[in-house]
Amino acid sequence: MSKIQKLLVANRGEIALRIMRSARELGIKTVAVYSEADRLSPHVKYADEAVCLGPPPSNLSYLLSDKIIEVCKNLGVDAIHPGYGFLSENAEFAKKVSDAGLIFVGPSPGSIEVMGSKLAAKQAVSKYDIPLVPGTDEAITDINEAKALAAQIGYPILIKASAGGGGKGMRIVESAADFEEQMQRAVSEAQSAFGDGAVFIEKFITSPRHIEIQVLGDQQGNVVYLFERECSIQRRHQKVIEEAPSAVVSPEMRKAMGEAAVGVAKACNYYGAGTVEFIVDENLDFYFLEMNTRLQVEHPVTEMITGKDLVKEQIWIAEGKALNFKQEDLQINGHSLEIRVYAEDPKNNFLPDIGKLQTYRRPQGPGIRVDDGFEEGMDIPIYYDPMIAKLITHGQSREEAISRMIRAIDDYQITGIQTTLDFCKFALQHEAFTSGNFNTKFVEKYFEPKVLDQTLSDKEEELIAALAVEFFLQEKGSDSGKVMQGEEKASSSGWRKRLRIDG
Ligand code: ADP
Repeated sequence: MSKIQKLLVANRGEIALRIMRSARELGIKTVAVYSEADRLSPHVKYADEAVCLGPPPSNLSYLLSDKIIEVCKNLGVDAIHPGYGFLSENAEFAKKVSDAGLIFVGPSPGSIEVMGSKLAAKQAVSKYDIPLVPGTDEAITDINEAKALAAQIGYPILIKASAGGGGKGMRIVESAADFEEQMQRAVSEAQSAFGDGAVFIEKFITSPRHIEIQVLGDQQGNVVYLFERECSIQRRHQKVIEEAPSAVVSPEMRKAMGEAAVGVAKACNYYGAGTVEFIVDENLDFYFLEMNTRLQVEHPVTEMITGKDLVKEQIWIAEGKALNFKQEDLQINGHSLEIRVYAEDPKNNFLPDIGKLQTYRRPQGPGIRVDDGFEEGMDIPIYYDPMIAKLITHGQSREEAISRMIRAIDDYQITGIQTTLDFCKFALQHEAFTSGNFNTKFVEKYFEPKVLDQTLSDKEEELIAALAVEFFLQEKGSDSGKVMQGEEKASSSGWRKRLRIDG
């Protein structure tokens, strides 16, 4: 067991800050790395020491594994936390780190490698009793054999690249007539995008939910699950609202999914924090999709309902400590939601809307957590993921977590760029969301840019009515107390309302 004294966080933005905060609480010194675009970032200021890696593009900065290891040697760092994205799921980097005598705060290179290949992952878990989407668990070599199998599974089917990731490398085949052509395209795409042409087929689940299980394992072989996160509200196959627990998971289903997730982790001798992703069909049958071998963006909702600090757990595990709790010690407390505040324009197909954060004030109050990496006046750089912040709420019930989130969205003050805040408010108020009856098709099914105009004009009407009262009272020469009431009424229903109308 070796106590970590100085930790380098090989990441940027909100996750770098979030990791450093836990490190500080553990009395660990922190080192930030940054690109020239992030020179003034909060994560750089927060760290005890900071080193510039190079120009903004990530391949010239955040992905420079050798340079990062060199920084560790120069500054007497003993451990690296990779965060998410960048080098976090790079088995070669994890190996280099330990070869350099440093601690990698994450799983072994072997686990990362197995779970980095969808086919290797399926093969690894096949010894355990884990439900898989009907399909092949080997690369397709004989197209006729694959076609026969596809007919057996039933169309539509999905062709997936074994090395694919981030929602890329998948093709839906609607009927047998398209099979050969789509297969050829899929192989050549996989080859050129991932350098690995291996593809396999799976039944295409038409309207699935995406539900994942958080696991923690120590180096002694203990693995526990920290319940589920519902991540079905996605745009462009990427999550935008997450919650824990899910509105549709019963205690029995939770136990079955949790135990399956522990099986997946055991299948690759996993230690550290990891996430086992499942897709869930209309009958609430669940199937293993993949395992993410890192801390997940949406980990705070799990922290809110379990009371565990997942970064501290990662650090303790990396130091070689055994988990200090058991499965039966874990309980769900209340309900938590997270929305991702992206610098994107929901009215323009969620395209990034990069620019300066002219006004930036966070919501506050009971049950609210904001994980962000920006300050007012900063530019959102074009080089990285355009996420400004994660807004997280916790409540005693799902209803309270939702109403708290809506209040927090109204209190969030952002000008200068378009964000996903209004879209999230729309989604949280939608009947499909409040009833829990939604899936990954939510945006496609219910969202049109004009629904945001609609909310805006409702707001305008309300404000105009309030102003009319004010004028009426002024006209009548009424006392100032009443005029004040009129003003309060105009402003009490939220800052965002006034902001939109002013600008
Ligand atoms: P990636 O590694 O690219 O994230 P995943 O296997 O996790 O790939 O799948 C990403 C998303 O694609 C899932 O969240 C789900 O929405 C969809 N998906 C994956 N497999 C299927 C399937 N068999 N049927 C329907 N949708 C799927």
